[in-house]
Amino acid sequence: MAKVWCTCGEVLSNICIPNDVQFWVYTSKMWNHISLNVAIEGWLFPSPVYDVWRCNTCDRLYAYNMPIDTGTEWTGSWELKKKYVVENIKSLSATISMAKFTDVDGAEKAVCSCGKLVSSSPFPNDIQLRVYTDFEWDTMLTPDIVNPNHFPLPSHDVWRCPKCENIYVYEWDSKIPIKVYRLED
Ligand SMILES: [Zn+2]
Ligand SMILES: [Zn+2]
Repeated sequence: MAKVWCTCGEVLSNICIPNDVQFWVYTSKMWNHISLNVAIEGWLFPSPVYDVWRCNTCDRLYAYNMPIDTGTEWTGSWELKKKYVVENIKSLSATISMAKFTDVDGAEKAVCSCGKLVSSSPFPNDIQLRVYTDFEWDTMLTPDIVNPNHFPLPSHDVWRCPKCENIYVYEWDSKIPIKVYRLED
């Protein structure tokens, strides 16, 4: 359990289980690897690389290293690895440039505002992220045997540019991102 101060002054805490602060984030490559195992005991489910927190006031994202789960407690400290701020999407040409399109090869692609061409194929990859809220995660992951293949798709399609690390959040049925995050210094 931990508390942190957001840059905006808000106090973020994961004391409640589940909470509206933490996210469970896997790349499609990681998820695909986990899915090869069709029966996992809940407490043995592989942890994501980062412990991702979001401030509900200013929408900043904080990605910490994952503390070590011994099965009975979390040990080690949270160290901030990446910090994101949400872009003002109205003033961002990236909104248009990061619109998804289907290329002649049938792959879904988009051009990041940094110029990098990214694609959700081939699958699995490190571009597309599987993101669940802690509330969603709490309903899916039980201490019993779980099958990751039975987990529903996340509520949004999330892509991350490997070059500038911008994060783009899409509705599944739309090609224009509804939210863009960029690294904050
Ligand atoms: Zn904040
Ligand atoms: Zn980029």
